[in-house]
Amino acid sequence: MITFENIVKTYRMGETTVQALRGVSCHVETGEMVAIIGPSGCGKSTMMHIMGCLDTPTSGKYFLDGAEVSKLTDSQLAEVRNKKIGFIFQSFNLLARTSAVANVELPLIYGNSNNRRIKALAALERVGLAQRAFHMSNQLSGGEQQRVAIARALVNKPPIILADEPTGNLDSKSSNEIMTILENLNRDDGITIVMVTHEAEIAKRASCTIAMRDGQIVSDFTLSGKGKANL
Ligand code: ADP
Ligand code: MG
Repeated sequence: MITFENIVKTYRMGETTVQALRGVSCHVETGEMVAIIGPSGCGKSTMMHIMGCLDTPTSGKYFLDGAEVSKLTDSQLAEVRNKKIGFIFQSFNLLARTSAVANVELPLIYGNSNNRRIKALAALERVGLAQRAFHMSNQLSGGEQQRVAIARALVNKPPIILADEPTGNLDSKSSNEIMTILENLNRDDGITIVMVTHEAEIAKRASCTIAMRDGQIVSDFTLSGKGKANL
C-alpha cells in the first residue's frame, strides 16, 4: 500500500529552482494496477523515483505499507528498495555484453541471496525467456531486453513493480507482450503495479489512471471499477 501525503519535490539548479512535484497526494492499494499519464515534464518520473525509494521528497510524507519512508536513512531506503520494489525503465538499463541470466542475478547479489542461478532462471522462465538465458543482453531485441528487465525486477519477489514508460521504446507487438506479462503478474501473483505511459491504449489496461499536469494530480479515475487511487 502506497500513500503520498502532500509530496513536494524541488530541484535546485544553481540560482533557479524547479518544482517537479507541487503537493501530490494519492493512495495505491495493494494489488492494484495503476497508470500515471500526463505531458512530458509534468513530474511522472520524479513521482516514480520517490515511490521507488530512488529519491526522497523535499517535503510531505510517503508511507509504504504503513511505515513512513520519508524518514529513512539511505541504507534503510536501499533495503526497502531491495525487498519491496522492482523497477523497470524505458531504456531497459541492462548491462551490455553480459548474459541475460547474469543481469537477472544482480539484485540477488546485492541482497546476498543464495541459489542465485536457479532463481534467475526461474524469473526468466516467468517472462518466457528461458531459452535466451545465456545470450548477451545486447544481442536481444528491445522486447526481449525489457522482458529480461522485468525478470530482474521480479527476482527478489517484490510486492510492488514500478515501471517508467516500460513500452516507450518498443513496437506495438512487443508493447503488447510486455503489457500481458505485467497484467499476468498483477492478476496471478497479486503484484501491485504502477506504470507511467504516454499511450491511451496502454493506460486503458490498468485498473485506474492518475493524470498529472505541472507537478500536480489533475484527475484520478477508475476504468474497471476496482481502482481506488483517491485524491
Ligand atoms: P516527466 O517524467 O513527467 O517527463 P520529470 O519528473 O522527469 O517529468 O521532470 C519534472 C520536472 O523536473 C521537469 O521540469 C524536469 O526538467 C525537472 N527535473 C527532473 N529531474 C531533475 C533533476 N535531476 N534536476 C533538475 N531538474 C529535474
Ligand atoms: Mg519521465
